[in-house]
Order: sequence, then structure tokens, then C-alpha cells
Amino acid sequence: MILTPHSQATTPTRRRAAAALLASAVSVCLVAASAPVAPLGVGDRLFPYLGNPGYDVASYDLAFTYPGNNSEPLQAVTTIDAWTTADLDRVNLDFAHGKVKSVEVGGDPAEFRSAGEDLVITPEDSVPAGTWMRITVRHTSDPVPAEGREGGWVRTADGLAMANQADAAHLVFPCNDHPSDKAMFTFRVTAPDGHTAVAGGLAAGVEKSGGSTTWTYRTQHPMATELAQVSIGRSTVLHRTGPHSLPVRDVVPTRDRRALEPWLEKTPGQIAWMESKVGRYPFETYGLLVADASTGFELETQTLSLFERKLFTEPVYPPWYVESIMVHEAAHQWFGNSVTPRTWSDLWLSEGHATWYEALYAEEQAGKPMRARMKAAYGASDRWRAAGGPPAAPKAPDPARKTGLFRPNVYDGAALVLYALRQEIGRPAFERLERAWVVRHRDDTATTEDFVKLASEISGRDLDGFFQDWLYGEKTPPMPGHPDWKPETSAKPQDPAQ
Ligand SMILES: [Zn+2]
Repeated sequence: MILTPHSQATTPTRRRAAAALLASAVSVCLVAASAPVAPLGVGDRLFPYLGNPGYDVASYDLAFTYPGNNSEPLQAVTTIDAWTTADLDRVNLDFAHGKVKSVEVGGDPAEFRSAGEDLVITPEDSVPAGTWMRITVRHTSDPVPAEGREGGWVRTADGLAMANQADAAHLVFPCNDHPSDKAMFTFRVTAPDGHTAVAGGLAAGVEKSGGSTTWTYRTQHPMATELAQVSIGRSTVLHRTGPHSLPVRDVVPTRDRRALEPWLEKTPGQIAWMESKVGRYPFETYGLLVADASTGFELETQTLSLFERKLFTEPVYPPWYVESIMVHEAAHQWFGNSVTPRTWSDLWLSEGHATWYEALYAEEQAGKPMRARMKAAYGASDRWRAAGGPPAAPKAPDPARKTGLFRPNVYDGAALVLYALRQEIGRPAFERLERAWVVRHRDDTATTEDFVKLASEISGRDLDGFFQDWLYGEKTPPMPGHPDWKPETSAKPQDPAQ
């Protein structure tokens, strides 16, 4: 994710509602349960109720029927195939913004109710550990935001898009909503004639029937729930070819296709540039989804990154900057999407690297020196750490701010850690590390500890102390090779938008 510059002041911020409010948004069949049901989590330090223990999802099949406007709920069927890792009397899913009509486990009706932001399912018979479990949930998916809760469906001028990062996929569909449980996805979207639906992955069929069309898309690689994308709108899909015949497809509002073309045609070159730095593009396709909506951010949804239309159409952003933001989201396909931070405290691995390649591209293609940007970041770094925590131990999201966890400490503050690392181990070792990282953890999740380990392995040095100070220190350590760099002691009135 990256915030659209200058949009922070105009983005309305709303207070997050109490969990009780969200719970009331889920209409449930109340059963006479013998024991209290409770929301569960996988122990994420920042989002204690995200994810659920006892199973590992292999695949999601999400079927949405769009009613033709974006203010009514979609009808949906979510089918989850999961492998159980514990005996389960109950199965918790994350789901908090739709009406659940029925739940089946293994084809048999199951009881269900809500607890916090969890949908708690009680199968007729408990499910033993070490077996496949199929859960089918018939539900609605409400595109109108719950009061005080952001993320999930984004209502555009002509339909819908999705922005689930960090904790909002379960406002759209029932799931194990934590990046540690990546899975394959099939999307089936039915919409009335005149609309076009596109989702992450490759097209796997189009079926027309009585005034509506069903589009099917399938991912070829596992994906975190926060990275799912579905676009429904009066859209045009533009096709082009990237390196090694990579299919590139962009989804744009039809009326903007000509104005956007000079930007969209840059994608293949940007992918080739990224490949020259870190190796082959990790997925089956790429492209931009340009949404006519005021999101206030861009988002690296897997294989189809979400962009705010105004980034391209408003003349306030210099072209080199717009291009570097495009590269930021493209870089996330390697860093964040293929190699996914296992917990939200590892977010710096994703945003730090995306910011790194954004800055490197600006340096190489537009003559904006990395060193100057990093010196400025060094000046602000202590302040960023004070506000948001050190890069690998960020403070919990501030409920009053839409941007939550996405503070400068994990963007330029984390790119600064990579700069320090390159200074410390030298450019050749650093570049080997970057290439090795995306190969070793491809299609998987990885932690900060994994990065420290690989960096030590590649450089042939014990870097534990170095990373401890840079990633977890309250203060920014001295910059190797730049003893003259000093943290600014007094706060400037405003940090640059990150
Ligand atoms: Zn980002």
C-alpha cells in the first residue's frame, strides 16, 4: 500500500466502531450453545483476533452476484477447503459484514453464530485433526461500509473494487483472515449486462445467461486474503505483453482509457526493470486496476494492483513520481505478495522493500538520488520511531486514523534499514540477498528472523546485533559510512506524506 500524496488532509477519518457494532451487522441464527462461543485469533501481536487456529485453508471459492448497483448487498457463496490441524468441535472463521443464511460442513448443515468479528460454526459432528474439511457459507456481502469501519469493498463511480489490507477481507467474505494462511482462490462474479468483472489471477471462463454474465478467475499461486481483488464496473480491459510473454491486463473506466494509456504502457518496462534487479516476475499476470474512487491510497492486490484514478488524471503529481509509485506496487508482487510477511509486525519487509525499489527506480530513471532521500529519512527516523515504533515492532494501529499501521516507520523508515544494510555489507552482497530472498520464500510467508538469517548467511557475517539495533531500537543507530548524518532534534511542522 502507499498513500496517495496530499490526500491525507482530504480523506475523511472516522472512528472505528466498537466490536459490538460490527457483531450486530452480522445477522445470525441463534442456537442454544452449551458453552460460550468466543472470537479466536492466531496470536498476531497487532491484530489479536485475526485468523483462527486449528486448520489451514487450501482454497477459497468465492461466488458473488452483483445486483447492478453498489449500495445493495451482493449475494454470495463462499466455499472453503481446509486441512484440519486439531480436533475441532467448533470452527471459527473471520466474518463481520454480511448476513449469513446457512453454513454447511462436509455437506451437512451446521449451526452458527457470531462472536466479535468471528463466525463461529458448530458442525453436527466434531471434525478430527488431519482431515480435509469443506465449509460452505451462503451469505450476503455488504458494500456499504459499516459505521466507523473501513476497508473491504470500495465503492467506485461505476461499481466496486476491493481493498482488504490489513484486516478487512472478512468484511467481504468469511475467511481465515491472516497473512500466515495463504491459499488458492477462485472468483466467480455474476453481474448484469453492461458490467465487466475482473479478479486476481487468470480468466477461467465467461458464461452468459439471461441478461447477466458470470466471469471466473483463478489464481495460479497462493495468496493472502488481504491481497484479493475483484473489480466490477463499466470497465474496459486492456491487454498487452510483458517480459517473457507475461500477459499484462489493465482494468480501467472505459471513458478514461485514452488518457490512461501513456501510463499503462509503462508497465512492461517497469516489470523488466524489476526483473533486472531481483529476478523473474513471480506470478501469472499483472496489471493495474484504475478505480474512479477516493481511496486515498494505492494497493498491491495480487496480480492486479489498485490505483486511484486521480493519481494519473490530476496534474499535481510529477510524472517521475507517478511512475515510482507504479513501481512501488509492482515491487510488492515480489515483496509482500509472493513473499508475504507472516505477521503484521513483519510489515516492514513488504513496505520497506517496495519503498526501496520505488526510490531506486526514481534514482536510476529520474535522477533523484537515493542518498539524498535516505539522508532526509535519517533525519526524520527518530521521530518516526517515536510515533510508530521501530520498523519491526510497530505500534498497534491507531483506531482514529484510516492509515492505521501504515506509518512512515515502515516505509522510508524501513527502506533506511535496507540502505544501512547495503552500506554495511556492500552492494554485491546486498543484491545477492535480495535475489535470494524472493527465491527462497517464493509463494510462502517469511518473518523478520528469516531475513536476518539469510542476510547473515549471504554476507558471511553475524548480523544479529546490526539488525537488533536497526529494526528494534528506539533510536536510529549511526549510519555506516555516513558519520555526519544526524537525526533532526526538533520536529518539522509536517512530515512528507508517505
Ligand atoms: Zn506499499
